Amino acid sequence: MIQTIGILGGGQLGRMMALAAREMGYNIVVLDPTPNCPCGQVADKQIVADFDDIEAARELLESCDVITYEFENVNLKVAEALASKLPQTSRLLEVTQNRIIEKTEINKAGLKTVHYKVIASQAEMDLFVENYQKNSVKTVIKTAIGGYDGKGQYVINNVAELKAFATENYNTGIEYVAEEFIKFEKELSVIVCRNSNGEMAVFPMAENIHRNQILFESIVPARVSHYIEEKAISLAKQLAQHINLVGTLAIELFLCNDELVVNELAPRPHNSGHYTINACTTSQFEQHIRAVCNLSLGDTKLSSPCVMVNILGEDKYLMNREKIGKHKLHLYGKTEAKNGRKMGHINVLGETIGECLKEVENLILH
Ligand code: AMP
Repeated sequence: MIQTIGILGGGQLGRMMALAAREMGYNIVVLDPTPNCPCGQVADKQIVADFDDIEAARELLESCDVITYEFENVNLKVAEALASKLPQTSRLLEVTQNRIIEKTEINKAGLKTVHYKVIASQAEMDLFVENYQKNSVKTVIKTAIGGYDGKGQYVINNVAELKAFATENYNTGIEYVAEEFIKFEKELSVIVCRNSNGEMAVFPMAENIHRNQILFESIVPARVSHYIEEKAISLAKQLAQHINLVGTLAIELFLCNDELVVNELAPRPHNSGHYTINACTTSQFEQHIRAVCNLSLGDTKLSSPCVMVNILGEDKYLMNREKIGKHKLHLYGKTEAKNGRKMGHINVLGETIGECLKEVENLILH
């Protein structure tokens, strides 16, 4: 029987997983290099060590019955050392750590991605520059490995910008994908969980608004047609099945010409799913714990419209409990409020999306 859950990574996602798991009676051991990290504050024990420290990973393995992670950039050697207790598998990490492998799998599952080209060598870079001169469309070049929240991304508007990029990145050995920069109608996300028995559950789709490439707010239910909502559910299940998912998969989508195009995947609970804590029968964190412990999955029904607003380091005024009133304030226990750092979020519930958005406007203005 599973009694102790190990979590690799002690940020806000690990913390919210641990809080859900504690309610279910599990013990938590977290591994993170920062003492008293957000998850460490609510865990039974923290192993303070670097994520690449194989000895520390072995200590985690010995102290737990099952292990999960809160981020995708887990060292694959560490993941392999933990394999006997890692139901999500290192393969899921391998796929989501590299945009090239990720897009290949998405396409293999029968889903659409934005048109892209792989630039994995200097010869491919030269060829890309040559072809671009004949047909220059706005493009975003992304590093295949390691980018998030818009980091490692370069928007190319014309030949001169591409040439400057190519010169700056001459023979670096870094792999890129060059994507067509599309004009989407909306950014959406859908979260699917699956346990080892193959049971699946999908959360209601969120409509996401970004500012400076960081998620600003998620609106749920997304303001899309029933047809699109149904399509998102079926594509999420199709993908989960294809990759033999165990755990949670967040799928970021663009709505473009009434079609859903997959942007990227995250193999864990996602920022755009924080609304589920207050607005769904089961939260994404409880569901994730259920999935990795191979329990039956919970009901994902939306009980109320909700707008989730992120609180970044520069939004200190939103961290004032007295000012937030009846809304659901979640703070992550981070001491240093750096610009752009996710400090917490607020779930604003209401009768309608319009009402929630008005309340959010009031919060942000005051
Ligand atoms: P990503 O890290 O891939 O999620 O990209 C960060 C943000 O950049 C996305 O949320 C979009 O707003 C924007 N973006 C990424 N890829 C594209 C694209 N191919 N076309 C237009 N916008 C994009």
